[in-house]
Amino acid sequence: MICVIALAPLLAAAQKKDKNAVKAAATITVEDLKKHLYIIASKEMEGRETPSAGLDKAADYIEAHFKALGLTPGNNGSFRQFYPLYKDSMLSSSFKLNGNAIELNKDYQPQTSNYAASMRFSEVVFAGYGISDPEKRDDYKDLKVAGKLVLIMDGTPADYKPTQTGFASPASSFGKMNAALSKGASAVLIVYSNFPRRSLNANSGWSMNGYKATQTPFSFTISTEVAGKILGVDGKSLADKIKNGEIASKAYPAEIDLEFSKQSKMAKASNVIGVLEGTDLKDEYVFITAHYDHLGKRDTVIYYGADDDGSGTTGVLEIAEAFIKAKEAGKGPRRSIVFMAVSGEEKGLWGSGYYGNNPIFPLDKTTVDLNIDMIGRSDASRKVGDSTNYVYVVGDDKISSDLKVISEGMNKQYVKMELDYKFNDPKDPNRIYFRSDHYNFAAKGVPIIFYYDGMLGADYHKPTDTPEKIQYELFAKRAKLVFFTAWEMANRNEMLKRDIKLEIPKRGM
Ligand SMILES: [Zn+2]
Repeated sequence: MICVIALAPLLAAAQKKDKNAVKAAATITVEDLKKHLYIIASKEMEGRETPSAGLDKAADYIEAHFKALGLTPGNNGSFRQFYPLYKDSMLSSSFKLNGNAIELNKDYQPQTSNYAASMRFSEVVFAGYGISDPEKRDDYKDLKVAGKLVLIMDGTPADYKPTQTGFASPASSFGKMNAALSKGASAVLIVYSNFPRRSLNANSGWSMNGYKATQTPFSFTISTEVAGKILGVDGKSLADKIKNGEIASKAYPAEIDLEFSKQSKMAKASNVIGVLEGTDLKDEYVFITAHYDHLGKRDTVIYYGADDDGSGTTGVLEIAEAFIKAKEAGKGPRRSIVFMAVSGEEKGLWGSGYYGNNPIFPLDKTTVDLNIDMIGRSDASRKVGDSTNYVYVVGDDKISSDLKVISEGMNKQYVKMELDYKFNDPKDPNRIYFRSDHYNFAAKGVPIIFYYDGMLGADYHKPTDTPEKIQYELFAKRAKLVFFTAWEMANRNEMLKRDIKLEIPKRGM
């Protein structure tokens, strides 16, 4: 008897639910999730491409919700953290050989990544295949090309195997441009045998790289016909002659006019950031993130992105509300909670990448990022367990050994879902750990957990990812798991310890 009485309080303490957390979590409802998601994944938002008017509308909606809840603006009085985007459109180009205009698409094309310039050269230096592979071959041997126009042949000679394959190979067009750059060439002509070509797409996509540390040489592709005229051989036999080493690497006289002009546009996209200030530990931060952008529309077809990642975004809105309700009841979190909806994820993790490089709150005081990308549906290919009661959890064994203990503890205590670690296997070909916004926190040393439903089936990145296909009960349950986990991380005495070194695998080339 005595023993039992003595033990009882201990057991109770270990298993006692926090009533305030339970009460707050109950405000995460199917009705609310539906209400927000049907708006975020609506026609009016036009698929939320970065950048676009639809994306801005979604940002306005998220900001209005944060404001209405009573969150504080996260960026010096503003709910937005804007970042610039750049896009180039070619306006015109021309190529003249000894005073004669060469026809665009029929015999030459400019690289649309060129800077705007006009250059005139009196000679061209032929440098074979333009390969510079330190261990095997240097087509620039004995040539001086600094400040010069270089002519090189596409492809590789038969007797040469590059030391490296793929994008970074010395024989790839990227490798060849790098070689020309390091030798100091001002401009490069690359000979291709696939002319005439279809006309160029004059517009580049939007990019974050408006400023470059290094400009690659001004460059044009040309036909064997034009190259033959420069080198004084018949264009039809040019490729064979080069292959057989019958054309000397040296300077050839020719008057060449190169011109390229373009228009550069700038746009802005934003992360939407709302903060709930903590109490005694308010200078430490728990981040809850999801991306609110998606693929936009192609012609008139809208990619709604209800699950990807309307679900995560809506989850963030509802988790914010739950924490606000707790605060109103006098049980606000000890640490500050930062709710951040990021953009540009589908383009290459732009918004979170920008935040990681321009953090508003110190990253070493950011105890965790809980990132949600797709939590509203179930994975049809998952053949084990209960398809209405699971979530894939990624990253809880990395950076901090506290993550797993808390994640599993909170799940056991409050939600009781199957936590599936399939996508956490380092050998999983999907490489999920490196593929959503949490990675931009992890790369800076911040512990992360990523929540995901594994919906990679028929509707993934299709116009059919729509709100009526969401399993709202399951969605609500997963959002609650994130809430309880955040609750514990915001209220425990210590920040999560960072005791595991993140191994970043080398990119397969
Ligand atoms: Zn996504």
